Amino acid sequence: MITTWSEAIMQCKEVVSTYSMKSKISRRGLLPVLLFACLSAFISSRPFAAINEINTPKSFTVIAHRGASGYLPEHTLEAATLAFSLRPDFIEQDVVITKDDIPVVLHDIHLETVTDVEEVFPTRHRTDGRYYARDFTLAELRTLRVHERTNSDGTPVFKDRYQGQHANFKIATLAEHFELISELNRQFGTSVGVYPEVKSPAFHSKEGVDASKSVIYALNTYGFGEKNSNSYIQCFDFKEVKRIRETLGYEGKIVMLIGENSWGESDTNYDWIRTEDGMREVATYADGIGPWLGHIFNSEAMAQGKIEAAAWLDFAHSHKLTIHPYTYREDALPKGMTGEQVLEALDNVADVDGVFTDHLVPVLSWRAYKP
Ligand code: CA
Repeated sequence: MITTWSEAIMQCKEVVSTYSMKSKISRRGLLPVLLFACLSAFISSRPFAAINEINTPKSFTVIAHRGASGYLPEHTLEAATLAFSLRPDFIEQDVVITKDDIPVVLHDIHLETVTDVEEVFPTRHRTDGRYYARDFTLAELRTLRVHERTNSDGTPVFKDRYQGQHANFKIATLAEHFELISELNRQFGTSVGVYPEVKSPAFHSKEGVDASKSVIYALNTYGFGEKNSNSYIQCFDFKEVKRIRETLGYEGKIVMLIGENSWGESDTNYDWIRTEDGMREVATYADGIGPWLGHIFNSEAMAQGKIEAAAWLDFAHSHKLTIHPYTYREDALPKGMTGEQVLEALDNVADVDGVFTDHLVPVLSWRAYKP
């Protein structure tokens, strides 16, 4: 165990120099990222554990939500690289399709919340005033700068996250993300997995493009699409989950995402999904579920200061569904709970199998030291 700054810095230098020797890709860009990764691990609430030590326990799956999005603008290759350097089990990619039918990694079908599209292409919005990734070619999307997620008034959604103004972060394709993770896995001898989400399949279908097919093609191209591959494909649309399994014949692991009906993610009835019938149906087609963190604990018990699992989770457990809730955010924790309380309750009270997190450092540190 490393307990002093000088030991931590020595360790960081060692990791970085080993990395530099092995890595042939863009060393100059990656060095500060790695140094940052090592140092953030050290200054987290727990003593620094060497990267391999952090990586050892596997009983609670850690998924890098939109890359290391708590530290760098989401879904950029830089955020994926930083995530990789911290060694989660999976790195997530949300996928939308461009005008020229190329899958790119973006959380929304709209562009204005994470890019400068309104300045670069001021007239290219639809009648609803929104800028759709589907209306731009990959070459056009490449001209945009990706920034930290903002609200409609331009203020950051998470005010303490990345505040830099000059680094030119870019939109990347799904193939580039898969290639990056595959190449880093090869060079480090690791098996960090991928966790792509088919975004808004009904929207894409109306646009004349099969988003699921594009995602499956990319998974297969990079060796992530087999039955036992280190990957999950996820979707909020139950009809699409069925279609991926039945019509497209996909044999890899699938996760049914569960939200609130009011979010309008799809026409799936999420209240029904969380019933015994719903869970039985989901288990017919999917290997797991990705429920919202707000659905995991019993809200009435919470109001009385007690932490209890929500009753519906029993149906998921009885159908042996893997449960990966979203999203652990150090800067947006459930009211009245510390980060550690949330993680311990997920692990021991709700008995879920892992978590999507924007902040990898506290979750990996907690996992490394949990009993
Ligand atoms: Ca997602």
